[in-house]
Amino acid sequence: MTQIYNFSAGPAVLPKAVLEQARDEMLDWHGSGMSVMEMSHRGKEFIGIAHQAEADFRELLNIPANYKVLFLQGGASSQFAMVPMNLLRGKTSADYIHTGIWSGKAIDEAQRYASVNVAASSADRKFTYAPDQSVWQLDRNAAYVHYVSNETIGGVEFNWIPDTGDVPLVADMSSNILSRPVDVSRFGLIYAGAQKNIGPAGLTMVIVREDLLGNALAATPTMFNYRTHAEHDSMYNTPPTYAMYIAGLVFALLKREGGLAAMEQRNIAKSGLLYDYLDASDFYTSPVARENRSRMNIPFTLRDPALDEAFLKGAQQRGLLQLKGHKLAGGMRASLYNAMPIEGVQALVAYMQDFVQQQG
Ligand SMILES: *Cc1c(COP(=O)(O)O)cnc(C)c1O
Repeated sequence: MTQIYNFSAGPAVLPKAVLEQARDEMLDWHGSGMSVMEMSHRGKEFIGIAHQAEADFRELLNIPANYKVLFLQGGASSQFAMVPMNLLRGKTSADYIHTGIWSGKAIDEAQRYASVNVAASSADRKFTYAPDQSVWQLDRNAAYVHYVSNETIGGVEFNWIPDTGDVPLVADMSSNILSRPVDVSRFGLIYAGAQKNIGPAGLTMVIVREDLLGNALAATPTMFNYRTHAEHDSMYNTPPTYAMYIAGLVFALLKREGGLAAMEQRNIAKSGLLYDYLDASDFYTSPVARENRSRMNIPFTLRDPALDEAFLKGAQQRGLLQLKGHKLAGGMRASLYNAMPIEGVQALVAYMQDFVQQQG
């Protein structure tokens, strides 16, 4: 079989070692006679799996003790509503930074609950950069400040953490969590859908500072209240057990591979390889401002969009899958999450060079 490299933005490539371990444990987890999928979430086997997953996640991100880690469902899209429902805490407005499609969706949803102040936007340059904090118009009375640390579709990543003083900072880290070390203590709340850089779809991670809990809007559904899940160790109802198990295998693997500092070095090397080639080429172009280029999601365009289809077909034949850009962005996008080996990026660049030659 040809070696396959999967550049999907999400659900995305998982570490081969994790898939192999899951295969080996599929029918009989550690002599229990059961698949993890078949276990009660309240049994000692699964409780052990969940505790280990949380402990490893905490260790990887060095999460302080006054933060809760929640294993939820509903995707990052549910967080667009849960954040305002829970974090307004008697206030009426929140600040949002608009840097692309995902932050735009978060803004639209928040407007159902709060008066939203768009404190900064990169709409003026088609969302190809992250506005510097010096131009943000923050409101000192805002309940929180929300931003998307990596815009998965546009490929725009913040390489710095905003300073919002006493106003809690909220980040959608769906597509760059675990790609580099991050100082969690700078945040009030971090959330991430698992299907980009963690594990299978169906699991959503939330890290929330404890003092922000307990003041949800009165009409908040029980399942949308962070406190419900915090008070029940994410076991108020049935959590996404199998997705949690796979995520736990990924966390354990990342620890064995040297943690997030090691991931960051790998991700700098991988994305650098592709960006260096894009910059050297006059056939391919990266639309994103240099200082805000994502290490995870790299959109690029061909000189002539009429060649897009041939490019994708040739890539597919070489085992380079899912390179088509998001339908709203067009062009190509290569997602280089933790689980993408550098060999995959080397194979992509080699193909891109060959494709240019073929065009003469
Ligand atoms: C994928 C993604 C989402 C949406 O995630 P769902 O789990 O599909 O709801 C939100 N924000 C960002 C940054 C994403 O990459």
